[in-house]
Amino acid sequence: MTTIRVAHLYPDYLNIYADRGNIAVLAQRARWRGLELEVAAIGTGEPTPAGADLFYVGGGQDREQALIAADLAARGPALQAAVEGGAAVLAVCGGYQLLGRFYRDRQGAELPGAGVFPLHTVAGERRMIGDVLLECELEPGERRTLAGFENHAGRTHLDPGARPLGRVVAGFGNDGASGCEGCRVGRALGTYLHGPLLPRNPWLADWLLAQALAHRSGEPPRPLDPLPDELEQVAHAVSAERARRRGGRG
Ligand code: GLN
Repeated sequence: MTTIRVAHLYPDYLNIYADRGNIAVLAQRARWRGLELEVAAIGTGEPTPAGADLFYVGGGQDREQALIAADLAARGPALQAAVEGGAAVLAVCGGYQLLGRFYRDRQGAELPGAGVFPLHTVAGERRMIGDVLLECELEPGERRTLAGFENHAGRTHLDPGARPLGRVVAGFGNDGASGCEGCRVGRALGTYLHGPLLPRNPWLADWLLAQALAHRSGEPPRPLDPLPDELEQVAHAVSAERARRRGGRG
């Protein structure tokens, strides 16, 4: 049985909105394909596992982010090398912000980031809260939608030429103005979308598993065999409809 090695960064600190549910979805969808997910929980002071196929980090309040930021920033070179080496990443909200260069919180404190994503984030007065719908094209010609929930004070600014994860159809996204959401560098994805994200967007879970498998095998990514996702598609449709009806109107 093929094993996919996952490094789950700071599960005890960065896990709001049940973000750890994303790991459960990855594990179950891997199991349905006869694959195994080996998840290592990585806390402060613990080494960054060499050879991980997928890194995952969830969201958190400013207080929790401040507790782990220095430790995460010190992993910057290892994480950047892992991404250059083809490892996959899913970073959500507070974790996404701290994989950029820095996050300046509402008190003005600047939390250092790991420098994986070409962006920085500055907290604003008003929180951006609500349902979100994005249009993405992770594979050329394959337009898909992502539906989720956002709650952040941070306004994320991508560097010129940086690639967003998607275009905002409904919701605030990175900054409530650019029309962009998230960021992509190779197989590394950052997003503000909670929910958790993957139960209502199974295609993204499969895309991440395919990237992680490609890292493991050294071969180009291949789409995984489809699964009967009727329930997931209903969850996606309900979430997407809610976003269309009220996303982005704080
Ligand atoms: N604390 C960060 C912010 O407010 C991230 C919040 C989150 O992870 N939901 O922007």
